[in-house]
Amino acid sequence: MTVRFVILGGGPAGVQAASHAARLGAEVVMVERDVIGGSANLWDCIPSKAMIATGGVMSLAGRAHRMGLVPLEAALDPVSLTERITGITSHLATGVETLLASQGVRLLRGMGRLTGPHQVTAVTTETAEETVELEADAVLIATGSRPRVPAWCKVDGTRVLVTRQAYPPPEMPAHLVVIGSGVTGVEFVHMFRSFGSEVSLIVSRQQVLPSKDPEVAAALEDDFMRRGVRLYKGARAVGIDLDPGGGEGPGGAVTVRCDDGRRIQGSHALLAIGSIPNSEDLGLEEIGVKIDDGGYVPVNQHCQSNVEHVYAAGDVSGKLPLASVASMQGRKVAEHVMGLHTRAHRHLDYDKAASAIFTEPEIADVGLAEAEAFAEGRKIRVTKVPFAASARALIDGDPRGFVKILSDPATGQVLGGSIVGAHAAELISVIALAVTANLRVNDIVESLLVHPALAEALADAAD
Ligand SMILES: Cc1cc2nc3c(=O)[nH]c(=O)nc-3n(C[C@H](O)[C@H](O)[C@H](O)COP(=O)(O)OP(=O)(O)OC[C@H]3O[C@@H](n4cnc5c(N)ncnc54)[C@H](O)[C@@H]3O)c2cc1C
Repeated sequence: MTVRFVILGGGPAGVQAASHAARLGAEVVMVERDVIGGSANLWDCIPSKAMIATGGVMSLAGRAHRMGLVPLEAALDPVSLTERITGITSHLATGVETLLASQGVRLLRGMGRLTGPHQVTAVTTETAEETVELEADAVLIATGSRPRVPAWCKVDGTRVLVTRQAYPPPEMPAHLVVIGSGVTGVEFVHMFRSFGSEVSLIVSRQQVLPSKDPEVAAALEDDFMRRGVRLYKGARAVGIDLDPGGGEGPGGAVTVRCDDGRRIQGSHALLAIGSIPNSEDLGLEEIGVKIDDGGYVPVNQHCQSNVEHVYAAGDVSGKLPLASVASMQGRKVAEHVMGLHTRAHRHLDYDKAASAIFTEPEIADVGLAEAEAFAEGRKIRVTKVPFAASARALIDGDPRGFVKILSDPATGQVLGGSIVGAHAAELISVIALAVTANLRVNDIVESLLVHPALAEALADAAD
């Protein structure tokens, strides 16, 4: 009997689940209210990295004289930057749509919700409004999340922004105050500093990236301070005032009030304080699906909710909020829906997810962290090599950062690693593969790598 699989949400989780399940023989319908590719494509991963890449070229132009060129000057063209971003996101969306259509996935554009345990209603908006009733053997909730806006903050989309309004913003900030120093916050600090804005960062703890290795966070803080970013540590934002008569740019001043009495003034403010799951109005409670206090749908190792044929994957499942994790969850859901978990199926191990921060220098890590091993009293071997010793880093004119590899001293098994430096997001793949496949440091050392290449630093660190 053909399995009827209905997916709500066409982000990385929904797309991967749809594609994999279709290949495995399911009859798949995906309902998406906005763009196939999801917020990841339209609002988050892709536009932010496209902005960062453009900013990176601008700062590279500023360093051209160090590469033996006469000094170059680059200026931002917001119209062509917007066109560039739209071009990338629509190219990606079209590619995914074409793939899914070729696999026989039925795409419905509109809002979907559960109207019974096995019934989904989609109100489509593609041409005229139409209600489509669907029967499902399995349902995947992959509706993602949206930026969190606290009650004390009035976002106006011009002077006070959420990330989605910053690609690029209606006016380039003379001085941007970024609220939130997690991954998203620091990426936006880097992005706008590269474009020449003054930037202040409100850091609620004593370290940016509070969940990361302190040595990694310190490398980023050093870079920020070298580039003139002002860090306000131990301060939690509690209010924002707009003063049209104040200084700080044509629109006046924005003042962010902090809980310790500090007032930080800029021309614009940007909120980067996390996201909230899109789990409302989906009919979940009505059919008995549990939603926790944060609005997430708790799931087991197969991404099943407490109602076994209703799955949740991606940001709405409250696991690691990464597009890569969402995709892998989607793939695992497809395998479970199609009964593959009883045969060739590896469970998803969230502890082995690689992640990256697209700052300068780039930061990436995977697996066990040094602080975590220390807290557990676990014996580990830590080896570290600076990129200053890498021929390729010197050739490229960017010898900042290091590679750190954590391994088991008894067996040599690679347990984790961090990379700070150019192309860290690409280089971490080697350590991620080693961690996932239980490889040993010697497997990296004895790989015949390219010379001169940044990857040689990985072999040196593993040695
Ligand atoms: C600024 C920023 C940058 C990021 N950069 C990265 C990065 O570089 N790398 C990375 O791995 N992660 C990154 N992330 C995280 C990443 O974007 C998310 O983890 C990822 O988008 C989650 O995918 P998802 O499939 O759960 O949902 P989403 O991508 O959020 O997609 C969910 C989709 O569901 C649709 N939807 C919602 N409700 C309904 C409904 N009722 N009916 C129909 N459709 C519905 C929405 O329109 C949306 O398209 C970033 C996040 C932010 C905020």
